[in-house]
Amino acid sequence: MRNSKGSLVRPAPFTRDASSPLVTPLSPSVAYASDTPDALDDQYEGRAMGYTYSREGHPNAAVVAERMDIMENMSGGIVTGSGMGAITAVLMGLLKSGDHVIGGNQLYGRSLRLMKEDLPRLGITTSLADPVDVGAMRAAIRPQTRMILIEIASNPSLRIADIDGIAAVCREHGILLVVDNTFTTPRAIQPFDHGADIVIHSITKLLAGHSDVMLGYVVARDTDLNTQIRVFAVTTGLTPSPYDCWLAERGMLSFDLRFDRSQATASVLADHIAGLDGVKRVIYPMRKDHPDHARAVELLNGQGGNMVSFELTAGRAAANAFTRAAEGLAFAPTLGDVGTTLSHPASSSHRILTPEDRSALGLSEGFFRISVGLEDAESLKTIFTDAIAAASAAGEP
Ligand SMILES: *Cc1c(COP(=O)(O)O)cnc(C)c1O
Repeated sequence: MRNSKGSLVRPAPFTRDASSPLVTPLSPSVAYASDTPDALDDQYEGRAMGYTYSREGHPNAAVVAERMDIMENMSGGIVTGSGMGAITAVLMGLLKSGDHVIGGNQLYGRSLRLMKEDLPRLGITTSLADPVDVGAMRAAIRPQTRMILIEIASNPSLRIADIDGIAAVCREHGILLVVDNTFTTPRAIQPFDHGADIVIHSITKLLAGHSDVMLGYVVARDTDLNTQIRVFAVTTGLTPSPYDCWLAERGMLSFDLRFDRSQATASVLADHIAGLDGVKRVIYPMRKDHPDHARAVELLNGQGGNMVSFELTAGRAAANAFTRAAEGLAFAPTLGDVGTTLSHPASSSHRILTPEDRSALGLSEGFFRISVGLEDAESLKTIFTDAIAAASAAGEP
């Protein structure tokens, strides 16, 4: 093609160099050119490898998908534009009107919203049940139940689901078990080893790890399910941008190191906070006082993760004083960042619940969730000591 001055608009194709880049190149191209219609046939029919249009796939998504497949020890997964994109692709790509799905009763807030509002609007009925209690899950099953969606560690109470028990019930009834492994990550558990049929991630959180990318991932054990999920994601535009995939790949290269470091700090910090005045309780799966401690040790291979929750004895005034005094720690609605972040469920993720429903979940005004980052443990201990003392001084008894 020539522009008005007669010169070529398209640059000449890259020639092959004698050297190659260390870093995956960013490929922002929306479209990919083929030589001939025959060559395109070869591509569509799987005789040749190539891309056509970036909503359908591009090299940067392929690289992230491959890394995720390796981590979950499965093949054929796809990357989506967010974790919610992956959850939507599974629920809406596989279920149909008349089907019934059961969700964990403490799923991520937007997953709960899909279960409570959007799926019922489309004629898909839903129930919620406690994934810590297999009996409750079993009791929720109906003849139309096609799928159970759980997270291994609940947010923000960090209760540990009985995945083995639920997987056995699913097998018995021919129900698909879908596991959102965002909190636990493949470093602590690979859900396919425990009977999962589909695994989902928000790559946005610990995997990409720098709070500058939104991405999700989903993979099914069954190839046909993978194809159905992929086609739905491509059709509805749930697929990711090259730039996000490119940044996520860089983050993922240090995921193991970041996870191990923040987990080690989380474990120390949990014990430290438990010893401070003004703290009612600390929730960390590797602590002996955690209600699911034995299961956590067994399932998670002794890895408690980087999330710690705790409850101040006092209420909102103390909570305000705490975030003000927690110097350098962001009070922000995310997790898995390089820096430690704090969340306060009563004013954010769980604000739409009634105070009664919140207190049934143990989420008082003094309840905080910490996503431990890469700061050194001693500095964090000092910050928490000071901020919790400030909270106690400000708090009503
Ligand atoms: C954040 C999160 C999601 C949603 O992921 P996004 O990338 O924000 O869309 C889903 N599940 C869990 C457990 C999460 O923490």
